[in-house]
Amino acid sequence: MKVAKFGGTSLANAEQIRKVCDIILTDPKRRLIVVSAPGKRSASDIKVTDLLIKLAEVSLAGGSAEHELAAVIDRFKAITDELQLGGGILQVIEQDLRVRLAMDKTEPEQYTDALKASGEDNNAKIVAAYLQSKGIEAHYINPKEAGLLLNESHGRTQVMPESYQNLVALRDHTGIMIFPGFFGYSPDGTLVTLPRGGSDITGSILAAAVKAELYENFTDVDSVFAANPNLVDKPQAIQELTYREMRELSYAGFSVFHDEALFPAFHAAIPVCIKNTNNPSAAGTRIVAQRKSLSNPVVGIASDGGFCSVYVHKYLMNREIGFGRRLLQILEDEGISYEHMPSGIDDVTIILREELLTPQTEAQILKRIRDELAAEDIIIEHDLAMIMVVGEGMRHNVGTTARATGALARAHVNIEMINQGSSEVSMMFGVKAVDTVKAVAALYGEFFVPVNV
Ligand code: ASP
Repeated sequence: MKVAKFGGTSLANAEQIRKVCDIILTDPKRRLIVVSAPGKRSASDIKVTDLLIKLAEVSLAGGSAEHELAAVIDRFKAITDELQLGGGILQVIEQDLRVRLAMDKTEPEQYTDALKASGEDNNAKIVAAYLQSKGIEAHYINPKEAGLLLNESHGRTQVMPESYQNLVALRDHTGIMIFPGFFGYSPDGTLVTLPRGGSDITGSILAAAVKAELYENFTDVDSVFAANPNLVDKPQAIQELTYREMRELSYAGFSVFHDEALFPAFHAAIPVCIKNTNNPSAAGTRIVAQRKSLSNPVVGIASDGGFCSVYVHKYLMNREIGFGRRLLQILEDEGISYEHMPSGIDDVTIILREELLTPQTEAQILKRIRDELAAEDIIIEHDLAMIMVVGEGMRHNVGTTARATGALARAHVNIEMINQGSSEVSMMFGVKAVDTVKAVAALYGEFFVPVNV
């Protein structure tokens, strides 16, 4: 059995849904299908998930949400009309949305989750109904009945181990199963969503549970590219990647596959393939445990903005037992997770995602570091980007860091921070956000082909 996941752009309208169903039907092994909510039909369009978040916000604020509700229903109506599914299914969807809207609002997060998840849930019903209308045995699978259990631990939603025992039963299910991505249930029956883009994670969990021979992830590009095509002109396609390389690249900005989606597939040794719904015959990118060609030390260069650094200096920090723990405790108390922490003898820098800081928490953190740790110098720097150079080949090739830093120097990019060595397959450079394009182009030119910027 293969598990195939289709993303939002693959299911954005009726034409895309027809393509998806053709892809499903060309391979009888594609029996467990994970679907996202309808995504953007054009660059300026709005994803159904975002419409649903807006709907929840307006409803929670106490206003009439009829306008926002109509926007969601219109998206589904356009699809069901064009697929000629009849009005019945649209009534089911509208009724479902109204039930969710009328739910208890005392826990705003739960309320929002319930609305957010309805995009995937109703889209799964539509895809199943469309296949049925073609005379195919297809079933919508309810994640609650199937036993996809999620819990919240340390601020993150994680799959519970029991889920795998529950979901294995899907192996014996007949027909084509359409499973909504992005959400599951807590043991007390409350709907819980995964992080944004989380249908990739659902697919990986299911692939691991049913021991699929392959997890296919259908999106809107032919493959994963060696650099962001918006930053580098026609970057090389990557044919094969290891799980570790893909995890590092997705973490650092390759949005084609969710960075948390690899672990379940990796753990169960299920190969993953990224493919294009709009060009299904293209080979795509395979993600495997080990890859053959390691001649180029670097497989890809990723970049992500929105970081800041907190530099802390205190003489004899190296001798002060518990300094690091107390510093991180301050962040934990403020509910902030850190990304990286390079350190020196008397200095440490903590890299954080800016979105986690408000002006109040920022001031509070700086004050506490000064007062409680008696730090002598604290400098916060905003608008940083992290550039990640990734490749298993780095382990065997001497001089990769020298090549990377040389390329950045020639491009006059000032390196604010280097993190190299913690992971054997990547090195990371912190640069000013305004230097991102220059830095990526310089590194791509060094390890692939020179590009003009
Ligand atoms: N629809 C959700 C989102 O936009 C989840 C997904 O597509 O994977 O984040």
